[in-house]
Amino acid sequence: MSSSMSCADRWENICSRCGMCCHEKVIYGDELIYDMDSACEFLDVLTNFCMVYPARFRKCPRCRKMTLWKAMMAAWLPESCAYVQWARRHHIRLASRLRLVIAEDGFCKAVLPDEDEGESENV
Ligand code: SF4
Ligand code: SF4
Repeated sequence: MSSSMSCADRWENICSRCGMCCHEKVIYGDELIYDMDSACEFLDVLTNFCMVYPARFRKCPRCRKMTLWKAMMAAWLPESCAYVQWARRHHIRLASRLRLVIAEDGFCKAVLPDEDEGESENV
């Protein structure tokens, strides 16, 4: 890694571009359920690349910038996320470890109660 890289670039480069966080997900109890057939419309599911990356926050209102706080606290990030692993290596990951469940299309909507009916958390 070049020492001339900016701090922002080095932070960005932590991402492994796995595309996991671009899928619908829900926290239900101690489970983190990812619906792998429900990707963001801008995710190329063959390459896992975002097709609008430079304009992602403008094009996609649900897209969120990765921050140090999220790396530390966001329970909706899977353990495989490079930022979670980075935070664990630095002993600053404070979110609970959730069991990852990979679900099929429609699972979250069909099986889980609405937010006001149960303790699920859509993220
Ligand atoms: S817009 Fe955001 S959520 Fe959608 S594919 Fe791009 S990076 Fe992922
Ligand atoms: S889950 Fe983590 S490593 Fe994977 S694309 Fe999202 S931010 Fe990057």
